[in-house]
Amino acid sequence: MWRYRELIPVPKDAEIVTLYEGGTPLIRVANLGRPLRLTNLYVKFEGANPTGSFKDRGMTVAITIAKYLGVKAVVCASTGNTSSSMAAYARRAGLKPILVVPKNGIAKGKMGQGLLYGATVIEVEGGFDTAMKVIMELANDPNVYPLNSVNPWRIEGQKTVGYEIVDELGVPDWIVLPVGNAGNITSLWKGLKELKVLGLIRKLPKVLAVQAEGASPIVKAFHNGSYVPESKVETIASAIRIGSPVHWERALRVLNESRGYALSVSDLEILNAQKDLARLEGLGVEPASAASIAGVKKAVDLGVIRGDEVVVAIATGHALKDPDVMLNYEVDRVVVADAEAAIKTIKKLVMSD
Ligand SMILES: *Cc1c(COP(=O)(O)O)cnc(C)c1O
Repeated sequence: MWRYRELIPVPKDAEIVTLYEGGTPLIRVANLGRPLRLTNLYVKFEGANPTGSFKDRGMTVAITIAKYLGVKAVVCASTGNTSSSMAAYARRAGLKPILVVPKNGIAKGKMGQGLLYGATVIEVEGGFDTAMKVIMELANDPNVYPLNSVNPWRIEGQKTVGYEIVDELGVPDWIVLPVGNAGNITSLWKGLKELKVLGLIRKLPKVLAVQAEGASPIVKAFHNGSYVPESKVETIASAIRIGSPVHWERALRVLNESRGYALSVSDLEILNAQKDLARLEGLGVEPASAASIAGVKKAVDLGVIRGDEVVVAIATGHALKDPDVMLNYEVDRVVVADAEAAIKTIKKLVMSD
């Protein structure tokens, strides 16, 4: 992604801290699109980033700045992927990573990454929104550098997902993404608008924001005209389990400016989308990312997305992030006594269809 360096305003003499993030595949998903009568459906597979989510795009920039500023430690509140990414890039830069996460609120793969990188992990009761409060209070300490999506450098780096889509495909009719804190939707739009101002693109896409039914303050604000933060949030998609999104106001502006749309999907719809993407296309994404696929389906059903439109759904994170969800799927698991029995079973299975 650093090939877009001129569009990311880091100081000229800053030493870039990178793990070669970005450049993720944009995959045409014809099998998934067919039943929806969508002939131009693509998935931008952000799970292919170094720590398995799009957060790496922002983190490379923010840690570059942290190092440039000479801070000792970096902190963040996280539903998991920001912490995984921050821990990795902090280590790459020689900085100390401190993570504040909701107790029992982050997926196992993400927690495992924090431990692997040897980050200090502080677990707080009360969910992501409490963790966020901790970070806001620390913001004035000169020795620690907060790396939440309030950090403007992360927003700068995350613009590059839009640049890659446009480079490869031109401007699609729709870009669809799951929304939690709404940093990503803010970045995407900032980046695309800058391309338009520079005369590099002529039109802008419509943006479809997808939230989980149990954590959907932005969707409700879009439809009701007034924003009310939610104190109790619940969804299987832990990466978007956020009731008080930092960038709610900017998200609503994006939806308005892009003539986009917002909708929420149930956990069952999320899991079905995750399964379909895996079984029809071979792509493994985490539940929050599957929300964008579920959102495409719903938007087509509602007539918001038309069959002839070009649609890019951003799959924000890798399936391996959340092993518990994967292990809950029912499949035919056959237990046999020995190799001979296994061979017999396989032969019978192969012949059966
Ligand atoms: C962070 C994250 C989101 C939500 O992005 P926001 O910028 O908080 O709206 C969605 N999916 C995954 C996998 C994430 O890690």
